[in-house]
Amino acid sequence: MTSTVPQGVAPSALARALDAFTAELGAAAVISDPAELRQFRDPYTYSESDEFDAVAAVMPTDVEQVQAIVRIAGEHGVPLWTFSQGRNNTYGGPAPRMRGSVLVNLRGMNRVLEVDTDLAYAVVEPGVRWFDLFDALQAAGGDLWPSIPDLGWGSVVGNSLEYGIGYTPYGDHARNVCGLEVVLPDGSLLRTGMGAMAGNAAFHTYPHSFGPSFDGLFHQSNLGIVTRMGWWVMRRPEAYAACWARFRGYDTLGEVVDVLRGLMLDRTVENHPLFNRGVDVDEQGNFHLDPDGEGWSARFALYGRESLVDAQYAIVQEALQAVPGVEVARRTFAGDDLTGPANHDERVQRGVPDMDLLDPRMLPYGEVTGHLDFSPIGPAKGEAVVRLEKLVRSVYARQGRQYVNGLYLSPRSALHISTTFFDPRNEQQTAAVYAGYTELLEEVAAIGYAPYRTNLQHMDQVADRFGFADHAQRRLAERIKDALDPAGILAPGKSGVWPAHLRTPRS
Ligand code: ADP
Repeated sequence: MTSTVPQGVAPSALARALDAFTAELGAAAVISDPAELRQFRDPYTYSESDEFDAVAAVMPTDVEQVQAIVRIAGEHGVPLWTFSQGRNNTYGGPAPRMRGSVLVNLRGMNRVLEVDTDLAYAVVEPGVRWFDLFDALQAAGGDLWPSIPDLGWGSVVGNSLEYGIGYTPYGDHARNVCGLEVVLPDGSLLRTGMGAMAGNAAFHTYPHSFGPSFDGLFHQSNLGIVTRMGWWVMRRPEAYAACWARFRGYDTLGEVVDVLRGLMLDRTVENHPLFNRGVDVDEQGNFHLDPDGEGWSARFALYGRESLVDAQYAIVQEALQAVPGVEVARRTFAGDDLTGPANHDERVQRGVPDMDLLDPRMLPYGEVTGHLDFSPIGPAKGEAVVRLEKLVRSVYARQGRQYVNGLYLSPRSALHISTTFFDPRNEQQTAAVYAGYTELLEEVAAIGYAPYRTNLQHMDQVADRFGFADHAQRRLAERIKDALDPAGILAPGKSGVWPAHLRTPRS
């Protein structure tokens, strides 16, 4: 392995920066021992690769320390990479895009700063996990439900900044964000929206700004470090029904998507249905798709007054059962019934976090099992959904690769997530899986689709696909990057945006 000093940084400058971090934070908050740093690797890259190794990690506990870290990095030209919990596995985990970056580990900034039960929002620091948010809402009386993703160990802030998803009516997590506090690349502090006025009581209740809104600049970006986020949550309903539709075949899939889209647009179904193609994984890690691989299930939920949930269910049942071959079922719970929802599907749509889905993902190769998710986004139309599903299936079939899939429906868009498993200790197999992703990318781009989020290896390639008007959007991002971060220290390469000194000249 070669030295992890970042490209373009003198070892002496790095050493001075590390000394300054230690003077500011104390020795216990600065890690530079390579063995200790291994915990911050991307667990799904080849286990012997040093391509995404960090040179150090710093662990601030308050916003002043974050500001100091950014100023020190700027002074010495040292690249930083921020993570909140770093559980963003398959999209890089805690690892930096640029080798040799110093990790800003925000796990220690983990306070829930406020819960407003009247206005149904919480204010969180970046290290707050889904488990912590759930506990804080329970402690505040349990009248509020968070939307949560499948695994409870990640952070509200990291997930929302990445446009992560959940399964209640508040499942589009970036839309729950209301009011940010951000450390900019020069170490100065910004509050967005109404928060731009000191003491403004609408900071976390009104999502827009006087004048232009800047919140979007900090999503999937390298323009700031978010240190505080307002986050809207839903009010506990009187009743909650976890529902299922089961059916076979791609033609039926298309029809069910169209029916559910209609029910979402007219607000009968307010959460985000999740479709899965029938699959089982045995102890040896072999997948067993059902015989023709065409058994599907769609999970969704209804919320509200009990009488309303019953009425909505009757509408849903009638609409879905009008499609030949579709079976529909439900289990209804009282809103305050915490233990009734017994399995992951019932819990996650009610905002109760768990780690149930971690173990099945480890079956193929034990604890080290890697998985690579390919997640293109398309419109929520049956015909388009089936076309993309079949294309993805045909590419995996050509590659001889098994995969599991999920289809996450919103009223207008459909997120197609396919997951393939591999052993990160096997260099050849790992390389083949990442090459397979490139092929998937090319195939779906050819019919006009791209992922909504990607891994460290493919950030440049995905960004390349967004080429409208000679990459006008990336060029705008680069101009903003150059203006806010002239030294290019914050997360170089994040989402394919590089600072000027690291940019590859493009024709
Ligand atoms: P998770 O919450 O799932 O553990 P991470 O903490 O890994 O997610 O964050 C996902 C990504 O979001 C990171 O790789 C980083 O690019 C970005 N990110 C996370 N936290 C912050 C933050 N506080 N400020 C700016 N960007 C962040």
